[in-house]
Amino acid sequence: MQIALVSDVHGNRHAFNAVLDDIATTDAAEIWCLGDLVGYGAEPDACVELARDNTTICLAGNHDLAVTGALSLEEFSRGAEIAARWTRDVMEEDNIAWLRRLLPLDVDRSVGLYHASPRDPIWEYVLSALLAELCLDVQSHRICIVGHSHVALSFVRREGELATGEPRRAGDELDLSQGEWLLNPGSVGQPRDTDPRAAWLLLDLDRRNGAWRRVKYDVKGAQAAIRAARLPDSLAERLSYGQ
Ligand code: ZN
Repeated sequence: MQIALVSDVHGNRHAFNAVLDDIATTDAAEIWCLGDLVGYGAEPDACVELARDNTTICLAGNHDLAVTGALSLEEFSRGAEIAARWTRDVMEEDNIAWLRRLLPLDVDRSVGLYHASPRDPIWEYVLSALLAELCLDVQSHRICIVGHSHVALSFVRREGELATGEPRRAGDELDLSQGEWLLNPGSVGQPRDTDPRAAWLLLDLDRRNGAWRRVKYDVKGAQAAIRAARLPDSLAERLSYGQ
């Protein structure tokens, strides 16, 4: 079975629609979302509704948990905090209730799913081989998928070796049949790896193969929505640069 993995949509309906359209051109049988549907972007309700209608599995990210009130805003950066308060104020109660049912991990599948990391499903950013090594030590699945950092990447530890990591670009494909892996699809709605295109990962659970994909979307439309909502302008600007 092929699975489309998406993460960190962040209220960017334009990017999410473009990714869903791209997924529809593949053989993906299910869509699994690693969390952070809301926060930063201006269309949180639309993104929650798209996730509700299209995903089989959906995790909660730190921004989702902040909006439901499960997590305090103290650890958030200023921009993230402003956006989380705005999101909480504008969202439909039904959609907040739907977010409230989500968990930041799902370990009942053939691959482990975490919003952030196997050590800390809510907060830890796995951006170095050293951290990946510590995660690989604790994870019970041979292959785990994480989001949260908004950077498309892969870490691998082969028999008798230390973990190594690499950023993943559009079109990269990896054979995952050997070794222990930690994969990040990258972010749908706010990529931070200098490629502004929306990111997702096509994972073939039978062939044990992963393909990283990027899709162009209407960045200007997403920026206009952020400005119309009077959210901080930096949240619009960064979408142009993939930062
Ligand atoms: Zn995020």
